[in-house]
Amino acid sequence: MGSEKDEIVNILACPGIERCKFANIDTIGLARKADEKLFGKEMPVKMRIAISGCPNACTSPMLNEIGIMGRIRPLRTPGLCTGCGTCVQYCKEKAIVIRNGISVLKEDKCVQCGVCVRSCPFEILKADHRHFLVSVGGRRGRHPRIGRELLTADSEEEVLFAIDRIVNWVYRRAWSGRLLSEQLDDIHFEKFREEIVRAIQEKKAARTERA
Ligand code: SF4
Ligand code: SF4
Ligand code: SF4
Repeated sequence: MGSEKDEIVNILACPGIERCKFANIDTIGLARKADEKLFGKEMPVKMRIAISGCPNACTSPMLNEIGIMGRIRPLRTPGLCTGCGTCVQYCKEKAIVIRNGISVLKEDKCVQCGVCVRSCPFEILKADHRHFLVSVGGRRGRHPRIGRELLTADSEEEVLFAIDRIVNWVYRRAWSGRLLSEQLDDIHFEKFREEIVRAIQEKKAARTERA
């Protein structure tokens, strides 16, 4: 599982799309890419990276210094729902109801697991937004803490860019001798979040211009 030094200690991934029917992303491929670049990098604080293919969160990404979770936002194709209710049966969050003969999503209850998308026998539910939720500053151990949501990335490239920026920011700003979760505000997490979200938007805009 890695050493106890102040470094990128381990990069943990669930089986992902290769072996798990719930997976929304290629966790192993992403972990390999992050591992090649970062494993063992010396840091002022100990950092773990955990990747889960869906909100079942088998690797507990939110309890790690960097967490990645694959999610899908479902969208019903307008006008085609038969109201069969299969998606309602499959959704464990009770986030779908049948109203006036068609399925209606309750956004506030949906955890974006994508199960309903795969359950619809008529393929009417589509993956509107497949994405990676990136969190920072969680921790395991005696006093676990849930990380803060940093951003949602639309591609593996964006996630790797975000991980790189997080590692750089922590490397430059964090103090040794304190866990990252205890110094997020001191090293200006909110400002960092604004900067990285802007940087990703700029990358997207530049790509659109080139296309
Ligand atoms: S987190 Fe989701 S995709 Fe990964 S192993 Fe668990 S159920 Fe499967
Ligand atoms: S994505 Fe998951 S939580 Fe959301 S409606 Fe579908 S099955 Fe329910
Ligand atoms: S499973 Fe598909 S067709 Fe059936 S209610 Fe849900 S969205 Fe409509």
